[in-house]
Amino acid sequence: MSGTLYLVATPIGNLEDMTYRAVRILGEVDLIAAEDTRVSRRLLNHFEISKPLISYFEHNKRLREDELLQHLLTGEDVALICDAGTPAISDPGADIARSAIEHGINVVPIPGCCAAISALTAAGLDTHQFSFIGFLPREKKDRRAALQAVAAEQRTLVFYEAPHRLKAVLEDMVAAFGEQRRAAACRELTKLHEEFVRGTLAEISEHFAVNDPRGEFVLVIAGAEPPAPTAAPDEADLADMLNELIAGGLPRKAAAKQLAAEYGLSAKDVYAIGLK
Ligand code: SAM
Repeated sequence: MSGTLYLVATPIGNLEDMTYRAVRILGEVDLIAAEDTRVSRRLLNHFEISKPLISYFEHNKRLREDELLQHLLTGEDVALICDAGTPAISDPGADIARSAIEHGINVVPIPGCCAAISALTAAGLDTHQFSFIGFLPREKKDRRAALQAVAAEQRTLVFYEAPHRLKAVLEDMVAAFGEQRRAAACRELTKLHEEFVRGTLAEISEHFAVNDPRGEFVLVIAGAEPPAPTAAPDEADLADMLNELIAGGLPRKAAAKQLAAEYGLSAKDVYAIGLK
């Protein structure tokens, strides 16, 4: 029988955020695959976990995949961790999880920290629906296009960003979403210098124009306001539109149904207007 692949979340700064279950699983598996083995060695030493450790990161993940699958297929349990937070979220993990599933291997998440979720919960913006965008393209032109593509998105948006690009990204966000869009820049979550800069995009941009961005950031941006509903046409306009559709070959009933759906009206009423 094959082993289990555990995707284990680790702290994003504060070691107290490590879960009991994560410590137990890491202490029980046969092998731990880690993004940067030096970073993970420090974490494992802190929790007195001593297990064989191999690297699994963006540029060797294809090579490593077969090796990890072999371990799993011969019945060994493997844990995957990244430098911080949840594997597979803007970090390696999704590919090996998919391959393991395709090979009939049990894949188990060990939940814990995720910078996106921590930021979202304290940003003070709508959390009912949100869209995780992660890192934006580095090239200005591509970044602006990516922002434009989500400018009308009504769900709260969550981005990861490096400190040296923060000012430029905020400028591009002002251009794409407007100065008045509400947002929160969530810095150094769970760490000593944790900070939330909340306000409009213009205010946040001004804040970082005078306070150099340092540390790690999640940007949470309010979704776009829903477009104002288009006013329903009056009876005379509806009759004209109905006649146009009928002249174009649509049966009266279908034309009434189409206009009713378009303007949120009752098909029966539109049909009746046509008969007048
Ligand atoms: N897998 C991780 C997770 O679950 O959050 C994300 C890893 S991604 C490579 C690293 C990015 O996450 C950083 O550039 C930053 O945008 C965000 N991040 C990670 N730790 C953070 C923290 N303590 N405070 C704010 N942002 C953080």
